[in-house]
Order: sequence, then structure tokens, then C-alpha cells
Amino acid sequence: MKVQKDTIATVHIKVANDKGMLIEASKEPVALLIGHDNTMPAIESALMDQEAGFAANLNLDVEQAFGPRDESLVRPIAKKDFPPGVKVGGQLEMREGDSGEFKLYHVAKIKGDTVILDGNHPLAGQALRISLKLVSVRAAVAEEIAHGHAHGEHGHHH
Ligand SMILES: [Zn+2]
Repeated sequence: MKVQKDTIATVHIKVANDKGMLIEASKEPVALLIGHDNTMPAIESALMDQEAGFAANLNLDVEQAFGPRDESLVRPIAKKDFPPGVKVGGQLEMREGDSGEFKLYHVAKIKGDTVILDGNHPLAGQALRISLKLVSVRAAVAEEIAHGHAHGEHGHHH
């Protein structure tokens, strides 16, 4: 079976930076519902029409990966306004403005009484090397298509 829209592609994904340093490697393969923004478009288009056993190395530029950094998403906050135990690398959700959506920030730096939050994806601004191995392909069931993600082994459990 070939990868098409509304199939479930189960894939091993390794992510390295453009110097080849490994950033992330899934221990277990991940199950992606194709055609529902489960992953980066460049990964989907590499997988499209392929069958189990396919492997590829992709070089993604910054735009194809997580986009350029947006320095307006870097926000200094007084440390006293934080719950205790704030640590560099920690994450928290904050509302954008009064009625905006919650956005995930991570703690980039603590400087004296100031905590620097960064709402950029940790890999924003980086070109990435991705290696893919397609483990299996199957048709998605209607419930998966309705939810927009894969269920079962290597997918969502709920
Ligand atoms: Zn679901």
C-alpha cells in the first residue's frame, strides 16, 4: 500500500541540525495521519506515494522546518510573578493579550529578578536534517480522519 491522503504512515524520524548533530530521535516510530497537518509538509511530500521500507534523508531550510525566530515572542517577566520552582527549560502557557489564545512559552534564561520567556519553537531559526524510515502504511479508519490523528499503536490512545 502506498502513502496517500487519509492513510496512516508509521515512520521512524530522526532530526539533526545542519551540522549533523542529533537533536531528536524517536525510540518508537510515530503514526502520522497523512493530509491532516500531523507533520511538516516537507516530510509529508517525501512520504507521498511511497511504500513500507522507503527511507530518505531530507535537508530542510529554516522556512521548511520551524520557520525563522520571531524576537517579538521573547518576553521578560518579573520573577516574582512566577510560580516557585521556575527553571530554565521549563514551559508554561500564557494568554496572548486579554482574550487571546494560550501560547506555549519556554523559560530561556533567568537573569537576576527577570525571567526571559521565549515563545518560539525551540528549533525555530534552524535548518534541519531529517532522516525518515517508513515502517508501515495502512488506510485510516473514519474515526481517525474525524479526529485528525492516528489511533492505536504509535498513535493516540484515548
Ligand atoms: Zn482521536
